[in-house]
Amino acid sequence: MPRKAPHSTPQPNPRKIKEVAQILDGNKVRDQILDECRPRIQRVIDRSGRPPGLAVVLVGADPASQVYVRNKTKTAESLGIYGETITPDASITTDALLQLVRALNLRPEIDGILVQLPLPAHIDSRQILNAVAPEKDVDGFHPVNAGLLSIGAPGLRPCTPSGVIEILKRHQIPMAGRNAVVVGRSNIVGKPMAMLLLEENATVTICHSRTADLPAVCRTADILVAAIGRPAAITADHIQPGAVVIDVGINAVTDRAKAETLGPTKLAAFDKRGTVLVGDVHPVDMAELASAHTPVPGGVGPLTIALLMRNTIEAAERRVGLRS
Ligand code: NDP
Repeated sequence: MPRKAPHSTPQPNPRKIKEVAQILDGNKVRDQILDECRPRIQRVIDRSGRPPGLAVVLVGADPASQVYVRNKTKTAESLGIYGETITPDASITTDALLQLVRALNLRPEIDGILVQLPLPAHIDSRQILNAVAPEKDVDGFHPVNAGLLSIGAPGLRPCTPSGVIEILKRHQIPMAGRNAVVVGRSNIVGKPMAMLLLEENATVTICHSRTADLPAVCRTADILVAAIGRPAAITADHIQPGAVVIDVGINAVTDRAKAETLGPTKLAAFDKRGTVLVGDVHPVDMAELASAHTPVPGGVGPLTIALLMRNTIEAAERRVGLRS
């Protein structure tokens, strides 16, 4: 995508609408949600004599997945949720992994099952995700839960898009009647994001790699959600001045030439560590044009684990009869 001016030398932006955009603080919202989890965990214990239980299946030894899983189980334990990590070797077969998941489905003290993605290429991921009992599917990826979401019925909702809704609600950003554009149509983020915004009565457009004139469609957005996995691909051309911009992307930039295009703050961070995290939205353009936006890191990212905890508690509440 051609850029009009390099951000390493700040240029006045004629479309800039205000000096300081509101930063939508994901860490604050995460802490609120985790605080709300504690009494609910206690109610599950009072009712059933045991805490909610979460089993995480981590196949192989991918370092990034190991970090994600450690963060999930650490958060669970800090709240008093029972956490168990099962770590089969990367050579496990689809059949053996199916057996493992089915065994977890049958264990009464396990309320939530999460299979960490990506799975090794030889494993049929869809078959594994479909094997998780829908009532224990705390990632919300099972077709039953996707179907419940699409008909607006109660069920376990995917964590990252639910986190986006929490950020918007808890910053009093109205969704009803507003134009929301979601860029990305994955089953994990984009599609459920669109369904959740629809549930909040936004008028929703979904974009993807084949969308014609993506910038023009994005500029119709009062609320723009980017989930494409391409560093800083959404630029000033895509942002209606005053829009609320939610950047779901998390990309590690390891190339200095790319870091130079991201503005002085990201470049300084890059020069310190040799790598810098950036979302799918250009950080300087977003800060200049949006009325409110999520930062990367510290925006949507922290919410995913908090919503996983909440889903685990919700699954436990249903299983012990505290919720229908
Ligand atoms: P996927 O790769 O599964 O999906 C990407 C989507 O973006 C696809 O629908 C694709 O379109 C679309 N897309 C790709 N390039 C373009 C483009 N140039 N223009 C328009 N659309 C495009 O990614 P995920 O949904 O899993 O993740 C998206 C981002 O969110 C990633 O950066 C990921 O790291 C981040 N993420 C963050 C999480 C968090 O906790 N904050 C959790 C999960 C993901 P098509 O379908 O046509 O190919």
